Parts: sequence; C-alpha cells; structure tokens
Amino acid sequence: MSVQPVKTRFAPSPTGLLHLGNVRTALFNALLARHHGGIFLLRIEDTDLRRSQRGAIDALIEDLGWLGMVWQEGPGKEAGAGPYRQSERQSLYNRYIVQLNDQGLAYPCFCSAEELAALRQKQLAQGKAPRYPGTCARLSEAEIAARLQQGGEPSLRFRVPQSETIAFDDLVRGRQRFATDDIGDFIIRRANGAAAFFFSNALDDALMGITHVLRGEDHVSNTPRQIMLLNALKLKVPRYGHIALVLGDDSVPLSKRHGSHSVRALRERGYLPMAINNALARLGHYYKEAGYMDFKQLAAGFSTNRLSRASARFDLTQLDHWQRETLVQAGADEILRWMGREVYDRVPEGARAAFVDAVRANILFPQDALVWARITYGAELEITAAASTVLRKAGRDFCRHALDALLHNPHDYQAFVAELQKKSSLRGKALFAPLRAALTGRADGPELKALFPLMGPERVRSRLEMSI
Ligand code: GLU
Repeated sequence: MSVQPVKTRFAPSPTGLLHLGNVRTALFNALLARHHGGIFLLRIEDTDLRRSQRGAIDALIEDLGWLGMVWQEGPGKEAGAGPYRQSERQSLYNRYIVQLNDQGLAYPCFCSAEELAALRQKQLAQGKAPRYPGTCARLSEAEIAARLQQGGEPSLRFRVPQSETIAFDDLVRGRQRFATDDIGDFIIRRANGAAAFFFSNALDDALMGITHVLRGEDHVSNTPRQIMLLNALKLKVPRYGHIALVLGDDSVPLSKRHGSHSVRALRERGYLPMAINNALARLGHYYKEAGYMDFKQLAAGFSTNRLSRASARFDLTQLDHWQRETLVQAGADEILRWMGREVYDRVPEGARAAFVDAVRANILFPQDALVWARITYGAELEITAAASTVLRKAGRDFCRHALDALLHNPHDYQAFVAELQKKSSLRGKALFAPLRAALTGRADGPELKALFPLMGPERVRSRLEMSI
C-alpha cells in the first residue's frame, strides 16, 4: 500500500497584518510537512471580499517570504490543485453545492439577519446554546418558489443529520466527540452567493489533497461540521490538530489587536526572521534541543506528539533571547545587511566582516550596531558617567602609560597590553576597565581585542590623549 505524502497548509484570511499567532500556525504546518519530506501549501481565504484587502494579501505573502517560510504550492507556485485564492474558486464551490442540493442535503434559508439575531438572544436568555432551529428546513417547493418570487435572497444551509455522533482523533487533543443534535443546520453559501467558511475551507482541504490540518483551537467546534460536509460529498477528511492559542502578556490570545506583535512591527523594530522562528517553534511545542536551530533542524525535531494542549504565553524577552542567539549564528553578510546603510557606510571596506564579528554578541538591534560603528570609527567620543568614574579612579598616569605602550606596539594588541601591564602594575579588571573606558567611553561592550585593530593606532592614541 502506498502511503500518501504529508501535505499541510496555511490558510490565512487576509484581513490585516500577520501576527505571531498566525505565523506560529504557518510555521508548525511548514515544519510538519518538511519533517516528512512533504508539501506545504499556502491558500488565501479571501471569499469574504468585504474584509479582504488586496494590500493585506501582498503584505502577508511578503511577510511569510521574509520569515523564510517556503511553500511548495500556492500563490506564485501554481500546481495542479490551484488556483490558491478562494476568490478564484467560486465555480468549483458551486459545483459541489449543486451536488449537496441534489442529494437533498441543502436548503434555502430566508431568515433575515435580524430574525436570527433575535432568536440567538432568546436562546441565550433561556440559557441554551444558540443553534439554528431549522425554521426553513421544511419549506415546501411551492413555499420556496413563492419566497423567491417575492424577491427573497436566501442563504443555503446544510441539513445536519439527527442523532448521530461525529468523532475524530485530534492530533493534539485526542479523541473528540460531538452530538449532531447540538449542531444547528449551518450556512454553506451566503445570500450574496459566496461560499461560507465552513464549506470552502473544508472543501479546499479535500480538493487540494491536504492530509494534516494544524490550526488554532478556536476552530475545534467547526471540525465536526466540516467532517459532515466532506462525508456527504464522499471526500477524504484530513487529520486535524487543534493547537492551544498563543497568549500575549495581557493573557489574551494574540490577535490583530496586538498590533505591536505583527510580523511587520517586529521586523521594523529589527528582529531577525530566525529569531522569530526559533521563538515561535517553542511556543506550545517542546524541543529537546535548547539552542538555536535552523529550519532544517526545527523540522527534524518537530512532532505533533510534542504539541502541548496548554496555551503558551509570548513575551518579548523570549524574542530578545532568540535574537541574541540568532546574531551569534547568522552569517556576516546577513548581519551586515541587517545593520543597514548607515553602519555599512561608516565601516571601512575590508573591515566589515571583522566589525560584525567584533560587535555581534553585544547588540540586539541595528541601532545598537550604529552606536558601535560610531564608537569604533567616529571622531568624537561620548563618555558615559560610569566610564568617566572608572577613568578618574585609574588616574592620568594610566593613560600616559597606555600611550607609551601604544607607541611601541601600535598594531599588536597583546604586546600593547603586556607592556601596559608592566608599566601600570595593573592587571585583570583593574587594567581593562579603564582601558575600555578610555577607548570606547563605555563601561562595557565588545572585546577590546577585537575593537583595537579596528580603531587603528591613530584613533586609539587620540582617545588616550583625550582621556588625559
Ligand atoms: N481562514 C481561516 C482562519 O484564518 C483558516 C482556518 C483554518 O486553518 O482552517 O482562521
């Protein structure tokens, strides 16, 4: 028996900027597919034309690309299962809607939005779960014809079977059971003719050959409805896994309201894509490996067995941690690009890779790199209060000794330090702290050993003179 290759998907509704909750869903699906050497597909769920904006689609494609999330099928990677934008799939949906109609499994509903809202209120007031009571389920052909004649624009509802149990094995939550009697007949086509979410989402998963759906647990109660639809259409039902939502530091699930946690905002703040990926891969998924991982390693260690049922909390300190780890790992070229034009222009050609290596462990954002580019190459030096205290304590003689030592060893840091040690009779912190303060104006920062050759003897000399 041949095993169907794993095919996963990310199916965002383009209603705003991608936030970290969405991205984690995308990442988990991408990693699951890659773990099995399968296919990751991107589908744009833009049937709700009012809410979807062209700009939002472009932005989400760009954000996913920036994160390095590669889809093998989707917009720009057309394959047999396309098109990959739901707004271009309406004729397909219509075909399957006709099929449900012919099977007697769909009926037009003329209830107005106001009637439905009032009904909902009433049910809630009675302490009941809101559920469509089937008002239009038994309209005769003649009644339907009459309503249409009167200009009624019906939606279409799926006829939910009575007294059945829909069960499925959730990849995260285990066995799930739902009584169909608790599920009202639901809308599969809206009055404006557009396919409704339940329908287009489930149908596309089946038509696109999706084998595994990892999505937020807010969708778990949709799943029995979608299974019923696919069963009725005799289409293959994917495996579902509903992952706990990501909470922000306000304990509320991340959503578009958390604008500061949009990928766009984090990117503009200077976070690196692999820092975001490393942070998100661990939100609700357990890795044995505690250190930085690239995509390949993240995929190798990914398993649905390691997905947690408990919601995970996201805060920026985690992201800062992974930012540091990523800066240690990233290639010099990537970091240099990330540092930006101003840094690039300030650092002499030929010294750029060395500059990156000198400062990468001491920065978090491009503006930090700019600070060190100014310190290393600037004409003037600002001296912090902490550095100035250190310098005062060391006294003028310290800098005079350093100038002497520099004269004899302008290009050899080790020899320079050895001579300064001898002359000043200082060693360890007592020597390096004032030296650092004189050269950089700071009490901490990158290793002097790395900065010294970048600054060059002229700049080192003028700084020591200034300190005197
Ligand atoms: N478009 C839906 C959403 O963004 C997709 C849900 C799903 O993954 O099935 O919530």
